[in-house]
Amino acid sequence: MKSNASVVLLGASRRVIFSAFLVLALALGVLGLAGCGKPNPSRSAESGHSEQQDETAASNGSGSGNTGDSAAVSAVPVFDPSKPEVIHRGNPNRPMVALTIDDGWNRDDRIFDLLRAQSVPATTFLIGGRGVAEGDPAWVKSLDDAGLEVCSHTYDHYKLTDHPEEYIANDIKHGLDVIQSITGKRLPYMRPPGGFVNEAVIQAAVENHCYIVMWTSAFGDTDEKVTADQEVQSVLANLCNGDIILCHWGGYHTYEAMSRLIPEIRARGYEFGTLSDVLAP
Ligand SMILES: [Zn+2]
Repeated sequence: MKSNASVVLLGASRRVIFSAFLVLALALGVLGLAGCGKPNPSRSAESGHSEQQDETAASNGSGSGNTGDSAAVSAVPVFDPSKPEVIHRGNPNRPMVALTIDDGWNRDDRIFDLLRAQSVPATTFLIGGRGVAEGDPAWVKSLDDAGLEVCSHTYDHYKLTDHPEEYIANDIKHGLDVIQSITGKRLPYMRPPGGFVNEAVIQAAVENHCYIVMWTSAFGDTDEKVTADQEVQSVLANLCNGDIILCHWGGYHTYEAMSRLIPEIRARGYEFGTLSDVLAP
């Protein structure tokens, strides 16, 4: 049995790790480093403009079945509690980026068609309830069958940090269970709605052996005022090795921006990979 003291210590050490991580992230940001490596661009088909934002954004932040960027770089990692629980970027030493597509409501099916047509490995964070994963398990299965990594974005998709610990724990577990019940897989990743994280969110993720996955750049496609041009530029402006790029199945201009980004990102020397691919050492 765990003593109260060890529970307190566990909480304290997690706070220290989390604080240290924030300090490091801020320091890197100030220095403009952020672990960014770049490939040698072969050519550039397009140059850009600017903006960035996500579905709210507390942060700045696909085994490849049919897809073909490279032979899968990685196996799915097992959750390692000794590593940082919150992920913001993949491997900075490899010219590979990950497209991550969130939510699932009001979805634009052209996005999935585009990913398949262009053989782009990708990762998706789907809402378990709200008519999404539970409401259309055949779609979820088709994503998994096509080689996307299908992960959980909680069950209810409410801002977790507005809720008590018990709700947070249940919502995270419920979302993971729904995805697993459809795909038969339990990937060690989850993304909290809006990227809002506190200690209870971290604790619940850890108890479910999941990393919390944030993002490096975002289309900004939840804001109607952001144009496709701005979305493209938002991603290209600081394109780096290991980028985790956020967009949405039901975003504004998402299909248009993605159609332009896929060839341009490749032209700049990057491959697309799943989250597991870009996290691989
Ligand atoms: Zn979301």
